[in-house]
Formats: sequence, structure tokens, C-alpha cells
Amino acid sequence: MAAFGTVFMPEMSIAEYRDGQWHPPKISAADSLSLHPGAHALHYASTCFEGLKAFKHADGSVHIFRLDQNIKRMRQSSKLLALPEVDAELLEHMIVDIVKHFKDEVPNPPGSMYIRPTHIGTEPAIGKAASPATQSLLYVLLSPVGDYFAGGTRPLKLLIETDGMRCAPHMGMIKSGGNYASALNPIMQARAQYDADQVLFCPNGDVQETGAANFLLIDGDEIITKDLDSSFLHGITRDSILTLAKDMGMTVTERTLSVDELLERAQKPTTEAALSGTAAVLTPVGSLIHNEQTVTIGSGDEGPKTQQLRRALNEIQWGQRADSFGWLTAV
Ligand SMILES: *Cc1c(COP(=O)(O)O)cnc(C)c1O
Repeated sequence: MAAFGTVFMPEMSIAEYRDGQWHPPKISAADSLSLHPGAHALHYASTCFEGLKAFKHADGSVHIFRLDQNIKRMRQSSKLLALPEVDAELLEHMIVDIVKHFKDEVPNPPGSMYIRPTHIGTEPAIGKAASPATQSLLYVLLSPVGDYFAGGTRPLKLLIETDGMRCAPHMGMIKSGGNYASALNPIMQARAQYDADQVLFCPNGDVQETGAANFLLIDGDEIITKDLDSSFLHGITRDSILTLAKDMGMTVTERTLSVDELLERAQKPTTEAALSGTAAVLTPVGSLIHNEQTVTIGSGDEGPKTQQLRRALNEIQWGQRADSFGWLTAV
């Protein structure tokens, strides 16, 4: 099967901000974009994006998961990057419209339609290194995706990184291109040197997140994860899993988690750890590499709590469990 995110629907929804206002969105070919080579985003990284999914239910209806939260975060990212303000209604209309347009192409569960809203500063002005772009493009791409877990779940191996950071601390809560480029070299090095799947960034010894997912530690009936601050991405899957965990009677503790505490708790045979994010929902973490040593988390395999939480979230997304929190938007 094609790699995640490499297949696109042939059309996208696109809107332009120019002359101080948003112009009406259009549905147009998604295979190219006409852009001045001096566009602000290409030089000064005025670019941000979102990632959310639409799911097909057994009755053929299609539902977008946590649309409002993704729009809110896109508005926040745009604001923090000094891009033109994104109109919430406009973006909602664009997302719903393009998903509706390709409703028949939404794969059945466990597949889904991955939705990628993108906002880029397009003003051709290379002199604007220290000022915002006054023109931008907002567009919504669609990419049908299959079962992330096809072929089984192999728990991940993470390298604990306490020296470097994923991105500049004030950029953490922005879903912006530059942050991913900034994390690439440490991730590539961890793969080459330790055969690690991902890097768990732990600046100053505090467990933060990986390159594109949040980290959750599950110890019995308690979930421990970093409390929200501006240094890392506030995952909507993280929020959904914590909400479900509380609903199941688990204790949710959002606080600083040190690497020392993580390594100590990992010794318990019942401890579990997982990464949360839209693409993979909840992926088990089986081991950590720290100071050249491999530390197994609990049994090293996917634990029952991770499975239970992922199933609960999937069942809501797939229409097999009541949407008690109002997370779905029908298109
Ligand atoms: C997108 C992302 C996440 C996960 O966010 P979700 O809303 O759950 O998909 C976590 N960390 C980073 C750095 C991300 O880019």
C-alpha cells in the first residue's frame, strides 16, 4: 500500500487573502500551486497546517472528528506566525465542502480521509524577513489513508534526548513547517545510531513530546502527561484520550514528568506508554534508550489500557459508540 499521505484527491479547496480580505474559496486542481519563488513562506517559513480526519460510518454517512478544535488551533498557529487571521467560518466551510465533494472516496474503517488544511504567506517580498506577509493562501488537501496498524502493532523504541530540543520553546504550540525541519537531524541521527523509531524530546530532563506526537505514561489507573504550556503541541488526540480516560474512571495527571521518574516507573511490569496523534491515534511505546542503555517499559508489549483507550476513541470515530462528547460533525 502507498505510504501515509502520498495519495491525494485530485481537487482541493483554496482561498486567497489579498487586499486586506479573504476572497471566496474555489475548488481547484490539487496537483500544483502557482507561487512566486520569492513567496514569504518559502523564505521565512510563514506556514502552518492542521491534520484531522473524516470517517465513514456503516450507514454511509461521513463525519469529521473534532473539526472545531482543529480550526481553533489553525487560527492560533496563524496568529502566532503573524499570518492573516483565518476566518473560522470560512475554514469550516472549506473543509466541509471538500470532504462532501469527495464523500464517496472516504475509505471504510479502519481507513479514513486525512484532511490537511494549510496556510502559507505568499507575498513576494524577500525584504520582509522581519515583517509579516500581507498575502496568503489557505487550502485544504485530502488524502485517503488505510489502516495505520496494518501488519500489526510493533511497540516503538524512543531515544530520550535531554540536550537538544524539538524547536524553539515559544514555537512549540504552533503546527508550523519550520518546527519539523528543526527536529529532522536529531531524529535521523537517532535512527542511524540507535535504530530508534522516534526521539522523545526531554529538555532539561522533563518529558515533552516526539517530533509529531504527544507522550502518555499509563501506570495502572493513572495517566501522566505533561501539562499544557507553550513549549509543545497541544494534541487534540491527547485531549480526547484524557477525556475518555476520565470517563472510564482513570486518574488523569497533567504535570511535569522527569526522565528519572519515567525510567523508574517503566520498571513496573504493568506500566504502559503510548504516543498520541491524529495519524496513529495511540501507538504503544515498548522501550526507551537512555545513556546508551535500553530500558523496557513494562512488558515491552502493547498494554491493555492502551488498547482499551484506542478502541474507545476508534469506536466513537467509526460510529460504533455514542458520540457523548459531541466530537463528530456530519458532512
Ligand atoms: C500534530 C502533532 C501532535 C498531535 O496532535 P493531534 O491533534 O493529536 O493530531 C503532537 N505533536 C506534534 C509536534 C504535532 O505536530
